Amino acid sequence: CKVSGRNSKLFYSPKMNSMYNELLLLEGEIRKALSNEDFKLYYQPKVSVETGEIIGVEALIRWFHKEKGFISPSKFIPLAEEAGLITQLGEWVVRQACMQHKKWVDTGYPPVSIAVNVSAIELQRNDFSEKVKAIIDEVEIDPSFLELEITENSVMQNTEDCIKTMNELRSIGISLSIDDFGTGYSSFGYLRKFPINNLKIDQSFVKNSLIESNSAEIIKAMIQLAHTFGLKVIAEGVENEFVLNFLKSQQCDYYQGYYHSKPIPPEDMEQMMVLKV
Ligand code: C2E
Ligand code: CA
Ligand code: CA
Ligand code: CA
Repeated sequence: CKVSGRNSKLFYSPKMNSMYNELLLLEGEIRKALSNEDFKLYYQPKVSVETGEIIGVEALIRWFHKEKGFISPSKFIPLAEEAGLITQLGEWVVRQACMQHKKWVDTGYPPVSIAVNVSAIELQRNDFSEKVKAIIDEVEIDPSFLELEITENSVMQNTEDCIKTMNELRSIGISLSIDDFGTGYSSFGYLRKFPINNLKIDQSFVKNSLIESNSAEIIKAMIQLAHTFGLKVIAEGVENEFVLNFLKSQQCDYYQGYYHSKPIPPEDMEQMMVLKV
């Protein structure tokens, strides 16, 4: 049974029983959604601060449930992790994103990198890099266009093992980014140990950068340090031109955010690539 082990740690209470039921229910629903193709990937452009050019896209999973409507990934990803389904779901996301990239390249769109979010649990598996490699070979894409986004907290669990996996991924030719940087337990000191290409500044700093001098100073420091380590910096959650101008003044490399575009379905992304690339 997928959820065994959790039983033994719990003492019975009606609330826990209902949580347990919800988890079981959701496990079934996620399985069903995987086979029914109720999941879909949306894409949000990553844009050059300097030129406004689209340099990549981030894949963000969407679940349009037949009865419940839209369910946010912030809600179901943690539940999929709990239910032991994140590996299967994560593989679907990687394969889907690679297939989309392949389709775009074959159709003649200018090739942009495609970034996929990886959960801590996926990263902890010792066959993770092998699995990703198998998908790249199966779909036949150039691995240098695949980027994996890993949150800093997920690397802070079993750091040594994670670094090993990250090195394997890099040797395949995949790019790595630290996501949500600044919100977790890591520090600038750790940054040097991680074999990464890009740093993503968490949106909480970006949003406050014009109203809170602390956030602005933190962003400045992050960009400078990342650059001395040879990393590219991308700011998330840019919602207006004032923040973008601040980022420009700090030599931030790339940005993402509603100011440019919300995450959109692939059909809309295609139109944007024709217009903007
Ligand atoms: P994240 O990776 O940090 O993604 C950024 C989130 O911020 C996305 O929410 C995106 O839609 C939202 N966002 C982007 N620009 C703006 C902006 O300008 N303003 C505001 N307010 N929000 C903005 P979303 O799509 O709901 O995803 C939430 C989280 O769920 C993601 O955070 C990521 O941790 C997780 N997630 C999404 N898709 C996947 C996936 O395929 N696999 C895994 N493991 N996690 C995923
Ligand atoms: Ca992300
Ligand atoms: Ca993020
Ligand atoms: Ca996040």
